[in-house]
Amino acid sequence: MRFDAPVPPFCTLLCWIIPFGVIGWLASTATADGILPNGGADFASRDGGVTITSDFPGGRMSQCQQISSDAFAITIEPESDPINDSAWYAFRIQSSRPKSVRVLLHYVGGSHRYDPKISRDGERWQSAAHLVTRTSNTLQDVELLVHADEKPLWIAGQELLSTDEISQWSNQLTRLPHVDKKPIGRSVQGRSVEQLTITECDDPDYIFLIARQHPPEVTGAIGMLHFVDAVASDTPLAKKFRKRFAAVVIPTVNPDGVHHGHWRCNANGVDLNRDWSHFTQPETRAVRDQVLQCRRAGENRLCLFVDFHSTYEDVFYIPAHNPQIFPAGFTQRWFASIQKRFPGYDVSVDANHNAHRSTSKAWVDRTLGVTAVTYEFGDETDRETIRRVAGGAAEEMMELLLDLPAKGTPDQENKPVIRLVSGSADETISR
Ligand SMILES: [Zn+2]
Repeated sequence: MRFDAPVPPFCTLLCWIIPFGVIGWLASTATADGILPNGGADFASRDGGVTITSDFPGGRMSQCQQISSDAFAITIEPESDPINDSAWYAFRIQSSRPKSVRVLLHYVGGSHRYDPKISRDGERWQSAAHLVTRTSNTLQDVELLVHADEKPLWIAGQELLSTDEISQWSNQLTRLPHVDKKPIGRSVQGRSVEQLTITECDDPDYIFLIARQHPPEVTGAIGMLHFVDAVASDTPLAKKFRKRFAAVVIPTVNPDGVHHGHWRCNANGVDLNRDWSHFTQPETRAVRDQVLQCRRAGENRLCLFVDFHSTYEDVFYIPAHNPQIFPAGFTQRWFASIQKRFPGYDVSVDANHNAHRSTSKAWVDRTLGVTAVTYEFGDETDRETIRRVAGGAAEEMMELLLDLPAKGTPDQENKPVIRLVSGSADETISR
């Protein structure tokens, strides 16, 4: 389906001086004929020379309207309102003739957060902040100057990292004898929520890693990939770690949101990282049930929970001090060792962030008494830095956990207080 919007005649005259506010109005008055059933949109210019689409996994372009021969107004809307301002956009543009095209992004209920990234094949990406030629004071409107030609050009807030690409990565890992993969549940729209288990021990203690509760947070997912690769690798340290520990990994908690290019939520419009009190969503219930299965002989065996996200800078969010946490003092030792390993890198820690009780880390902290960390990577952190630091953080974590007395042994100094042992999928945990 294609969408040819009628062009108000004054647009052609005013195309170079048109104020952003009017662009937003134009975009918001475009008809909805070009919207595809899955929420993406297809658009062709009046002469058919320029096509713009978001009809691919992770795509997001709510509407598009031609405002002159070489200018197009694109509206980006969130999946629900109000919403956290992580305004995700992703579309692909082509032109039958090489030409410079102005793309005017108008955000509804949000503002410009992500510098554009571009790709010619949807797989290899590069930063393209230089495409931004002007922004409105509110950052609700942004103009991009794009060179379009017959080869497709993807433009997105971050590099696309689809559930298929994550599956390809995890399928590669399952070729290793110590990596297993299984579905643990289904999303609202029936997509599989997959889990990896990495271990060489029949009777392990556990670490639990999750990512992509929030779809646009690609740098967090990249950090998770490198972190997990280090744990699954063939280094002597990783082998030793797997002889005692199992790493359980859920790479994409919110596959529907990732598929639809959501800013924040799952297909029910719920922020999954605010659902860890009442567990109203199938995705959070599925993950919770797996966390609760990290036990042996009725005892919880979880030693560390890490939830990967992205924000404006690299930072660890930790819960407020919990005197009964296990392992005692682990986060301080871990962060110090990462800082020592990367002297020029600023390890930033924020205690008490989102101290309310509906995030994953708050639930693990209060319910299991186990160290829980939200590991945030910056939106624009250099990807090579993410690779180095995430891999290094995983190695420091393995060293420190191997130094611990085995969980539940008599000489263990800080036996956790387990306040919940039920793992029933339908149970509502209100504590
Ligand atoms: Zn997040």
